[in-house]
Amino acid sequence: MKKLLIALAALVVLASGVWIATGFDADPDERPRPEAPAEPDESEPEEDPAPSTAAAEILSHRARAVMGHDKGAFLASIDPKAKRFRKQQRKIFDRLTSLRFGRYELEVQTGDGDLARREHRRRYKSADEVFIPRVEETYRFKGYDDADFVSNLFFTFVLRDGEWLVAADNDLGKRNRTERNLWDYGPVKQTRGKNVTLIQHPCREAGCVEIGDSFIQQAETARRRIKQKWKGAWNGRVVVLLTSSRREVRRIIDVDYAISNFAAFAYSPFLDTGYSPARIVVDRATLAASPPDFVELLLTHEMAHVATRRASGPHIPLWVEEGLAEWMTRPPGDDADLYYSNQVAVGAVQPRLATDREFRRGNAEELFLHYQSSRTAVAYFIERWGYTKFFRFYKTLGDSHNDSGGRAQHLRSAMRRFTRLSPGKFERQWADSI
Ligand SMILES: [Zn+2]
Repeated sequence: MKKLLIALAALVVLASGVWIATGFDADPDERPRPEAPAEPDESEPEEDPAPSTAAAEILSHRARAVMGHDKGAFLASIDPKAKRFRKQQRKIFDRLTSLRFGRYELEVQTGDGDLARREHRRRYKSADEVFIPRVEETYRFKGYDDADFVSNLFFTFVLRDGEWLVAADNDLGKRNRTERNLWDYGPVKQTRGKNVTLIQHPCREAGCVEIGDSFIQQAETARRRIKQKWKGAWNGRVVVLLTSSRREVRRIIDVDYAISNFAAFAYSPFLDTGYSPARIVVDRATLAASPPDFVELLLTHEMAHVATRRASGPHIPLWVEEGLAEWMTRPPGDDADLYYSNQVAVGAVQPRLATDREFRRGNAEELFLHYQSSRTAVAYFIERWGYTKFFRFYKTLGDSHNDSGGRAQHLRSAMRRFTRLSPGKFERQWADSI
């Protein structure tokens, strides 16, 4: 039993893209437009440019400075009065330029308007104006990403003596927090494998062990397994972020539930066009403390999420996501399977499919059961209706956010289409099969 408990305590979950969806769910054409500028009949000839125009220009210089490794240009737009921010930005520049980007862009999102409030004008009372827009940072790691990874940043722009400058990136509250990445928490180094790239902090203190080639080899093995199992489009490239603490994991994936029961995460922002490429985030200490076969299992599971991301969508329930990842990762009939079917047989466990919320909030034992039930439910689907049908079900549901109707309605319709059963009936027939 002990072995099972260890395995379940270290089980993994997909941090669903929903965490970021609110910023993106509106159709760009339907977003409120910024107010049209007033007719220029009485405007003064030397009027300052609109803050959004100035911000767009600064951001484009800043992004070009990252790609061109031009520190002077990068720092030129930072408010000299914001001493701490300037110091931090100097570091951020060095870290960003130690990575190999194929593309890096920053774009001000005028549709969200100005998020600066009276408190911010008070905070920057020596400035003539304050402007805080949402900014989209989009980038690709060269050789690994075939689509943009997108983060929301919230820069504070201040106007001093007719010049717009960047003064901070953390002036807003929880809902509009700048999304952090590994390079916000220390220097980074990137190891580039054939298909897998690894980004971690270089070790600075005694006892720290950097993750190296053997991990890349394990990741390549895991990748091959998923490549064989997954039918959908996937470029087969993986970005792994290794943190130096659990706290860092939590900040990067930015979730509001306890993560102590999870060993690793696959996360990806959800955009109007679908999910961006997923990142695997795992704490270095977790890897160092885990036996090699567990690390391989973990990587295989997370890579399943990375591979399926491009076909996925916010309407797919977590039991389908986790069940599919587990189905691809572990052959049927292992210890976990035997234990689960035994628990069901003796009546200690009632087979049922967990809700998304239960996947996030459960304790270790509950999570084990949720993963296990999901895995057997997906296996049941595939055995009874075939993998091709399951794949089409997954893809249909993954695309369904483009159509009107809610999550439950789309699940019902996709289930009916590919199994001729309602979700409830599917669940009952699967439960009876165990
Ligand atoms: Zn998972």
